[in-house]
Amino acid sequence: MKSKIICSVIVPLYNEEAVIEESYRRLKRVMECTKDNYEIIFINDGSIDKTKYMAEDICRKDGCIKLINFSRNFGHQAAITAGMNEAVGEAIIVIDADLQDPPEVILQMLEKWKQGYEVVYGKRTKRNGEKLLKKFTAMVFYRLLKKMTSIDIPVDTGDFRLIDRKVCDALNSLPEKNRYVRGLVSWVGYKQTFVEFTRQERFAGETKYPLKKMIKLAFDGMTAFSYAPITIMSGLGGIIFFIGLISTAYVLIKHIYLNIAILSLGLIMSINLIMFGLIFISIGIMGEYIGRISDETKSRPMYIIDSKVSCKDKIKKYKDEEPLKDNEVS
Ligand code: UDP
Ligand code: MG
Repeated sequence: MKSKIICSVIVPLYNEEAVIEESYRRLKRVMECTKDNYEIIFINDGSIDKTKYMAEDICRKDGCIKLINFSRNFGHQAAITAGMNEAVGEAIIVIDADLQDPPEVILQMLEKWKQGYEVVYGKRTKRNGEKLLKKFTAMVFYRLLKKMTSIDIPVDTGDFRLIDRKVCDALNSLPEKNRYVRGLVSWVGYKQTFVEFTRQERFAGETKYPLKKMIKLAFDGMTAFSYAPITIMSGLGGIIFFIGLISTAYVLIKHIYLNIAILSLGLIMSINLIMFGLIFISIGIMGEYIGRISDETKSRPMYIIDSKVSCKDKIKKYKDEEPLKDNEVS
């Protein structure tokens, strides 16, 4: 009989040839410390570098590794969703491949899980080696989202977290396509806590989250958990309408009683431009919501799996092998 898997670790990979080996080594060392059966699930999110072949190589050598190859790049949130669908463990951990989230923190997360917590998220107390713009935008976004939603989405947390099997099942049952996973984890509830850690510098390579992907993620989070942008635009519309009424009355009174035309063509043009801008912003905001409704109704899957590489049957055998020595790990 196969031993039960206790921990599943999900690692999304997109063009991570520079970090995959070191990431595997650090993760492996930590997971060996747990003395429990575990699996590491690599999700290759349509990488176009050597990531796929390197992951396959690791998979061939180590029975604890599963690899899922997507047919193209579907994005980080799709990759971790695929990992959650594939995981069979009792505790499921999501961690980035680039070692910005130190794998050693997993041990603290497991401690909390054993104390009875069902969600243990990693809270970033410091972010080393990240650009000022990224730190600032992240800081503003997390706080804005918290203010705008009725759900308590913790600030300064990414997707580095541990979830219990029942939380994972609850998340897997949600049909949402444009997922903001860290928001959904808060939404499903359960007993939650956190462990603090310092976010490290990327081990190697470049960020795989360019501004475009960050904006998409921010909009996914905002539209999935808040109607505040629409409410703000409606409020603004109301205020402008009210100012419009007063200024029209003022202009008419001046014109009728004093015969003075007070608005120049330039001023009218400027006011019009501001108004058009606001109208387009409103349409854009509505479009973001409508586009997501359209995505949901199309019912396309979140991702397409090209192939799976798995050596499940080797798990027991691997456990008998020598763990990595300390001096093998930098
Ligand atoms: N990633 C992914 N698909 C993408 C972009 C990123 O699977 O389209 C993975 C990436 O390989 C990494 C994690 O998501 O393991 C986080 O990406 P990254 O470290 O580049 O983001 P950052 O930390 O700069 O926000
Ligand atoms: Mg990173």
